[in-house]
Amino acid sequence: MKAVRNYGIRDVRFEEIEKVVPKPEEALIKVDYAGICGSDLHIYREGMFVEDLPETMGHEFVGHIVSAPDGSGFKAGDAVTGDPRIVCGKCRACSDGAYPRCENLAFIGEARPGCFAEYVALEPEKLILLKEPKDLKQAALIEPLAVAVHACKRMDAAEKEKALIVGGGPIGLLIAAVLNEVYHLKSVAVADIDEYRQGVARAAGLAEVGPDLTAYAPEADIIVDAAGSGRALDLMIQHAKHGSRLYISAIYEKLPVVDLNAAVSKEMKLIGSNNYDREDLEEAARLITEDGMDLSWIISSVLFPEQAAEGFERLAGAVKKDMKILFRF
Ligand SMILES: [Zn+2]
Ligand SMILES: [Zn+2]
Repeated sequence: MKAVRNYGIRDVRFEEIEKVVPKPEEALIKVDYAGICGSDLHIYREGMFVEDLPETMGHEFVGHIVSAPDGSGFKAGDAVTGDPRIVCGKCRACSDGAYPRCENLAFIGEARPGCFAEYVALEPEKLILLKEPKDLKQAALIEPLAVAVHACKRMDAAEKEKALIVGGGPIGLLIAAVLNEVYHLKSVAVADIDEYRQGVARAAGLAEVGPDLTAYAPEADIIVDAAGSGRALDLMIQHAKHGSRLYISAIYEKLPVVDLNAAVSKEMKLIGSNNYDREDLEEAARLITEDGMDLSWIISSVLFPEQAAEGFERLAGAVKKDMKILFRF
């Protein structure tokens, strides 16, 4: 089968490998579309999260069941997406049922074969049945949308509040879209220095978009760091309104140095947000496949897996020309 595999930093290869054989307790899924995630780029640029190479990458997908264990509730032809997380079930967070905070959290595509392949095997408990989606491509966005749904739930956002999202990549813009379309905030601004990303933010229906976060930060009740830059984070804290809440929904490739004294004197709240719960995935699936939330603006290219190296290079470059790249299998 066709697969996209990680061989190390900046070394992603298209390969023909042996078709995956599901274990008796697993379902086999034919992958239709799979998306490159920001975390795949951390793997690509810095080698984060992965130990054993080569590995089939990818954790965002939509596909159709080929086979499923008897009694699993799934049958051949069902449209599905999956929960790609691998939680340890043993740490303190897992014992408390707080799986997004698992101390040993891993994903398919990192710790076991992922979905950048024609077929992926997954336990039925991890699958989410989809009403046959009108647009299969958008259904491949359920996992990143769940990240945004989860982050927004942690914000206790009120309609009278203003939000600023710093970083107009896929997660930043999905958070902005959820705050705008689901929570109906008074205003949702997006700051990103990249002009291409500003254009996508406007295409997403956001009115306040610009390069300079300091233009919006003094007004914002909620600031979201979806950029992962220490310099930007420091500016957010320096220019934030007193009593504002800062949500971190980014991974820093270089650990940030920031003036936390400013956060103390303003009595800011700093809150982290990481991945999602099963309910967040189900809610994201509903938003896309049933409520008609339109996220077509985020998909910038659909490539064949043979073009994997090109796709990763396009996303990893300093000049942005792409938002979300999907592979069509
Ligand atoms: Zn993802
Ligand atoms: Zn755990």
